[in-house]
Amino acid sequence: MKVDAVVLKRTFDLHKEEYEEAALRALNSGWYILGKEMLEFEKQFAEWTGRKYCVALNSGTDALILAFRALGIGPGDEVIVPANTYIASVIGITENGATPVFVDADDHMEIDADQIEGKITSRTKAVLPVHLYGQPSRMDIITELADKYNLKIVEDCAQCHGSTFKGKKTGTFGTLGCFSFYPTKPLGAFGDAGAIVTDDEELAEKLRMLRFYGSKVKYHNEIKGVNSRMDEIQAAILQVGLQYLDAGNEERRRQANLYKAGIVNNKVVIPPTYADVYHVYHLFPVLVENREAFQSYLKENGINTQVHYPIPPYVAECYKEWGYNWSDFPNAEKYAKQEVSLPIYCGMPDEEIKYVIEVINNY
Ligand SMILES: *Cc1c(COP(=O)(O)O)cnc(C)c1O
Repeated sequence: MKVDAVVLKRTFDLHKEEYEEAALRALNSGWYILGKEMLEFEKQFAEWTGRKYCVALNSGTDALILAFRALGIGPGDEVIVPANTYIASVIGITENGATPVFVDADDHMEIDADQIEGKITSRTKAVLPVHLYGQPSRMDIITELADKYNLKIVEDCAQCHGSTFKGKKTGTFGTLGCFSFYPTKPLGAFGDAGAIVTDDEELAEKLRMLRFYGSKVKYHNEIKGVNSRMDEIQAAILQVGLQYLDAGNEERRRQANLYKAGIVNNKVVIPPTYADVYHVYHLFPVLVENREAFQSYLKENGINTQVHYPIPPYVAECYKEWGYNWSDFPNAEKYAKQEVSLPIYCGMPDEEIKYVIEVINNY
């Protein structure tokens, strides 16, 4: 059997007619940028997250960059960020000239909340928890520290749409919640898109200006902005996706439970999940010591897997001036070397999951 890590066409086909209708509605409207589809999506997504405002943007990376810009965080300021994350989290900080301060991962693969306090200095302005793989970070500890040291929380919600920590939705803990709607994400567009949610009216207004060349009124550029607008086609498509987001999360949780119940092989470790969280399994990571051998074995059996992520941002080529070593963050190093993401997505047939389990158990 042939099994791919993600088959976006299958996810699209689940609601094909509705997606097509939405895209055509936007195309036929004659209005393609900053129009009523975007405003409607903003309204719906704010409501769904339970926040007052949503500002729709061009990507999740832009959401992170503009979040720190809106907060006035820049050169000389430090932002605490997990060592085990995707590079876009760090780009959000460095594009503003601020300095990322890395914290190693815990055994759940999330930021080790117990190590955060030791990294806070007089320059620390914010914490950027990344709810990685769909699992929320320890937001009880993080909000307590943010209150104690007067830090902003900016959440990287690119992988966790709809996940909850002690019943509270991710994206509602921080001053700003940054979302990506990259096609594979729990809520995905069919192109690039992102958004920020907040309860702060002033910040929302500032973000709306930042995405539109720094202006409220065309040609009246009050602040230094960029062009980062969600287009009408993606906004129309996302309104369809939003209707199925909760059901999609449930579906991936069901798939994850099949893996958890089925995989029995002491060479393949499934990392633990925190109690009191609703994990939405954007990805299903496992840890394997000899990753290359494991992945080629799966490949020989027709199964494609992915790695999230093989090179942690603190040792990325583009940041080599920092001079970090791989071993500076031992857990992040371990995950970068051992993580394998098993296939999981809406539209994946159960027989493929059962086949993956069977092949893994014979490894
Ligand atoms: C996908 C992702 C981003 C970036 O989102 P884009 O929409 O691709 O720019 C940021 N952070 C994390 C953790 C991501 O997974």
